[in-house]
Amino acid sequence: MKKLSLVVPVYYEEECILQYLKETIPVLNDLDLEWEIVFVDDGSKDKTVELIKGEARNENRIKLIEFSYNQGKQAAVSACIRYAKGDYLLYMDPDLQDPPDEIPNFINEIEKGYDLVFGVRKEKVDSMINKLYSKVFWGTLNKFTGLEIPKGLAVMRIFNRKFADKFLEYSEQNRFIEGIFVHIGMNRSQIEVSQRKRFAGKSKFNFKRKMQLAFDAIFDFSELPLKLAVKLGMFFSLMGFVALLLLVILKLFFIDFELGWPSLISVIVLGFGVQLFFIGIAAIYIGKIYKESKRRPLYSIKNLTNL
Ligand code: UDP
Ligand code: MG
Repeated sequence: MKKLSLVVPVYYEEECILQYLKETIPVLNDLDLEWEIVFVDDGSKDKTVELIKGEARNENRIKLIEFSYNQGKQAAVSACIRYAKGDYLLYMDPDLQDPPDEIPNFINEIEKGYDLVFGVRKEKVDSMINKLYSKVFWGTLNKFTGLEIPKGLAVMRIFNRKFADKFLEYSEQNRFIEGIFVHIGMNRSQIEVSQRKRFAGKSKFNFKRKMQLAFDAIFDFSELPLKLAVKLGMFFSLMGFVALLLLVILKLFFIDFELGWPSLISVIVLGFGVQLFFIGIAAIYIGKIYKESKRRPLYSIKNLTNL
C-alpha cells in the first residue's frame, strides 16, 4: 500500500492544532493509504509542542521535528520534506484555511500520474488589502522571474517521491519554495480547493514579513534588478551627456546665461542617488552570495519525536 505524508509547519498554533488533528485524522483513515503527519515546530513558545507531543504519545504516525528557534516557514517546510517518508507528500498549514476534506481530491488527481498538483483557491476568503497584496505580489513576481506560478495559489499541494527528491537537491539558503516548485516543473496539474477562514489565532505574516518574502523571492529567482540597474545607468548617463551638450551649445551660440548652483547641485544629487541605488542592488546580491558561500545547514533541530 502507498503511503501519504502530510507536511505541516507549525508556529504558535496552540489554538488550531487539536482541531486540525480532529478534522484531519478521520479523512486520512478513510483513504486507501498508509499515512503519517510530519509536523515541524518552528520555535513556538506556546503550548504547540506540548499538544503535539501529547497526541504523538498514543499515535506514532504523528511525528514532530522541533527547531531550536524560529527559522522561518521556508526552512520548516524543507525539513519536513526531508523527514517525510511517503510516496506522496501533501503540504498544508494547520490553521484550516485549506480544509482537510480536500485531501481525497488531491489523491485522486495525483493518482492520474502527475508529479505535482497545486491547489488553487476557488474563492479567496481574505481581507481586501491582503487580496490586493497577493495580486501585486504574484503579478510582479511572474514579471520579474518568468516563473509561471498559477493564479490564486493555495497553500495545499501534493507531490510524489520523485518530485520530493528533486526538491531536496536544491541547496540554496535563500529559498522561495513556490519558485522552486515551479522551477522543478515535471508533470504538473492543479485543482480548485475551497477556502475557510483561519480557525483561530492570527496570521504570522504581517506586512513587513510579506514584503521581505517578496524581495527574497525576486532576488532568489531573478537577475532583472541587476539588468535594470545597468539600463537605468545607461539612460542617466546618456541624459547627462545630452544635457551637457545642450548647455554648451546654448551658451556658445545663443544666449548668455548663468548656469547657477541649483542646477549643478540637482545634477549631483541625481547622480549620487542613481549610483547609490545601483550599489545597493549589487550589495543585495553580494549579501546573498555571502550567505550561500558559508554553506551553513538550512536549519537546526533540537528534538525529534516518533522519527
Ligand atoms: N509558520 C512557520 N514559521 C514562521 C511563520 C509561520 O512555520 O515563522 C507557519 C504557520 O504556523 C502556518 C504557516 O506557516 O502553519 C502559514 O502561516 P500563517 O497561517 O500565519 O500565514 P497566512 O496563511 O496568513 O499567510
Ligand atoms: Mg494561514
